[in-house]
Amino acid sequence: MKELLRELIQAESTPEKGELAAAEVISAAFGRSGMESHIDTWERNRANIVAHLRSTGRKAGLLFACHLDVVGPGEAAWTYPAFGAEQADGRIYGRGSTDMKGGIAAGVTAIRRIVDSGTELQGDIIFVASAGEETDSCGARRFVRDHAGLPELAGVVIPEPTDFALVTAHRGMLWIEVTTTGKAAHSSTPHLGVNAIASMRRILDELDHYEITDGPHELLGNGSMSVNTIEGGKAMNVVPDKCRIGIDFRTLPGQDHQRMIGDLERILAKLKADNPEFEGVVSVIREVRPLETDRRCDFVKALCSVVGTEQTTAVGYTTDGPYFASLGAPVVIFGPGKPSLCHKPDEYIDICDLEKGVEHYRSIILEFLT
Ligand SMILES: [Zn+2]
Repeated sequence: MKELLRELIQAESTPEKGELAAAEVISAAFGRSGMESHIDTWERNRANIVAHLRSTGRKAGLLFACHLDVVGPGEAAWTYPAFGAEQADGRIYGRGSTDMKGGIAAGVTAIRRIVDSGTELQGDIIFVASAGEETDSCGARRFVRDHAGLPELAGVVIPEPTDFALVTAHRGMLWIEVTTTGKAAHSSTPHLGVNAIASMRRILDELDHYEITDGPHELLGNGSMSVNTIEGGKAMNVVPDKCRIGIDFRTLPGQDHQRMIGDLERILAKLKADNPEFEGVVSVIREVRPLETDRRCDFVKALCSVVGTEQTTAVGYTTDGPYFASLGAPVVIFGPGKPSLCHKPDEYIDICDLEKGVEHYRSIILEFLT
C-alpha cells in the first residue's frame, strides 16, 4: 500500500498536469487483483476512474468517492520534495499524501483485500476517484451526471482526511465577483470620467452593513462573508474605468445561495437608482453546496458502531460530497490524515494511519455488504 501511495504522489496530479497519470496508477493496482476499472478521460489529461465490483445484489451497495487532484506545492520551501513521496520517521511526505491520496490508497487496498480473500459480497462496491475537486468539481459532476449504471446505495463514504472522525456536515461555499464599470478620463479632469473605484467604495460601504441572519447551526456554527480580493485602476493619471472584488461566502444548510446573489443584485440596483452613472454586475465564480447528512439515519448509526464512535462532527473544508448526496444516499466523510496538513508545505501522512484506514474500510465493507 505504501508503494501505491508513493506512485500516486509521484503522479503529480496538479491542475497543470491533470489526473490521468494518477488514474492509471489506480487502474493498475485494481488490475493486480483481477479487477476491471474504467478511466473516463477528457481534455487530454483530465480523468475520472471508476471501478464497479458486482455482487449477488441482495443488499444495497457502497460508493467510495475520492478525488484524484491535488493543489500545487505552493511558494514555501519543502524539506522533502513535494512529489518525491519520501519516507521518513514513519511518515510519507508529499503533496496529496493527506489530501487525499492516503485515503485513496487505503480504500483501494481495502477493496483489493476483500477481493483477494474471495469474500462473497451481497452488495456492490463502486469506487470512484474524480477530477477537479480543488477547482470546479468537474469530475464529480461528470460522474453524477452519467450515473445510470449505479445500483441502489446504502451510503457514500468519502475518504478525505478527518483523522478518523465521522463527518456528516460541512459549510457550503459561494465565490462571487462584483465588477463596477466607469468611464476613463485624464486624472487632471476627473469630472469628465466616472470612477469605478469610487463606485466600488459604495458597494463596500453597503457590504459593511450586510448581515447573515441564518444560524448558528449545531455543528457548523455561523455562515460568513469576506471580501478577499480587489483590483482596479491602471495608472496614476487615469480615472479607473474598472474595479473588481472577490467575495467568499461560507454558507449553512438551508441557506439558499440564490438569496445572497439576489441580495447583492438588490444592492447594485439601489446604487443605480441613486446614481444613474453607477454600473455594476455580479457573477458567480464557484459554488459548492453545504453538506448535511442526517446523523440519526441508519447508515450513520451503523457506521458509528463499526468505527467505534458515538458522535459525528463537521469539518472546515468543503468536499464533492453534496454532488454525491444528489444520488439520494447518505454521505459521510471519514478517512486517515490530519485535516490541518491539507495544502501545507511538508504535507505527510503517518504510515500507521494508512493501515488503520484499510482496517476501517474493510470493516465497513464487511458490515454493509456481507
Ligand atoms: Zn480533499
